[in-house]
Amino acid sequence: MTKPSFIQRARTTGVRVGQVTIGGDAPVVVQSMTNTDTAEAVATAVQVADLARAGSELVRITVNTAEAAAAVPYIREHLDKIDCSVPLIGDFHFNGHKLLTQHPACAEALGKYRINPGNVGRGKKRDEQFASMIEIASKYGKPVRIGVNWGSLDQSVLARLMDENAQRTEPRDAQEVMDEAMIASALESAARAEELGLGHDRIILSCKMSGVQDLIRVYRELSTRSDYPLHLGLTEAGMGSKGIVASTAALAVLLQEGIGDTIRISLTPEPGGDRTQEVVVAQEILQSMGLRSFTPMVVSCPGCGRTTSTYFQQLAQDIQSYLRHQMPEWRKQYHGVEEMTVAVMGCVVNGPGESKHANIGISLPGTGERPEAPVYVDGEKTVTLKGERIAEEFQQLVNDYVEQTYSTRSA
Ligand code: SF4
Repeated sequence: MTKPSFIQRARTTGVRVGQVTIGGDAPVVVQSMTNTDTAEAVATAVQVADLARAGSELVRITVNTAEAAAAVPYIREHLDKIDCSVPLIGDFHFNGHKLLTQHPACAEALGKYRINPGNVGRGKKRDEQFASMIEIASKYGKPVRIGVNWGSLDQSVLARLMDENAQRTEPRDAQEVMDEAMIASALESAARAEELGLGHDRIILSCKMSGVQDLIRVYRELSTRSDYPLHLGLTEAGMGSKGIVASTAALAVLLQEGIGDTIRISLTPEPGGDRTQEVVVAQEILQSMGLRSFTPMVVSCPGCGRTTSTYFQQLAQDIQSYLRHQMPEWRKQYHGVEEMTVAVMGCVVNGPGESKHANIGISLPGTGERPEAPVYVDGEKTVTLKGERIAEEFQQLVNDYVEQTYSTRSA
């Protein structure tokens, strides 16, 4: 899918992270984060591989202890063995300078470091510890995300700006000072990193907030103040539909304005829930906005009194799961299949019309309608399915369509 012409991305420097480019002309990159104990190398590698298989193009892991740092090269090795090349990002707080210094194999195995300037240390130590991490990044040629988070904002920056504000003849309100402190923390840290020798094209910025309007306000301003690529995410978005809706509301506004080069959706998983949900949501935001395509989309109606059975809901769900399940293989074999749309409609009121607009679509019989399901392919009615095996037969028609329509990558 081509990028809609009405979205002009803000011009940013392209930063390479392994094989992935963030910013510049590159499409918006999807990333995610593990929630395993990084010291458990196998469990972490398995989750990284799951996230990568779901479509995460970068995966961040916590590096918080000597055991976690020691595990990082093994995680990388395990992933390489299973042909999973997704770059790993190390998330460092408080002791990152020590871990990176004492575990050079960890520093080498990571594709990027995330440094939170609010959690690097205080006073003189802060500057030394920050410098130590930046020097290691420069030594190993690694990019860095200067990741400011409002929950751990550098208090020295905030205090300085509050003092300056108090001196003004017309002081700004507290919210403006907080916004400015977030942005100043990111920009001043980036400037310091460059003074220490890190290349301009090795720096990504983020200023994460947990309020939708706060995030939009801060990123709008940040995007006008530098050309570093921006990592977008609503921090502590929450669980379930609340987390999804809040993240989507914030990111959609910014992405629509061309702001943002990589996104992460910080969902709290349900107990025992699937971590890959955050990847699916990130992809669905980008695909719904027409910015990227990842998986064929199922268009389905909400159902109403004209279709009282759950049959069509089940078919829509089964087809969506099937398409997502097939994508890792289809992506290798069928060029452009990620842009396919499949319509699954509950009755003939809107079914045929919606089906005609999809690549392939089916209208199931509504209550009181004849037990027939017309199928449209590329706008033409091709067959009417009947009987007990409509779901299986429709899935086979989708398979046939994919095979016939999308040329192989080698072709
Ligand atoms: S397509 Fe039919 S079943 Fe679906 S919402 Fe419209 S009228 Fe209701």
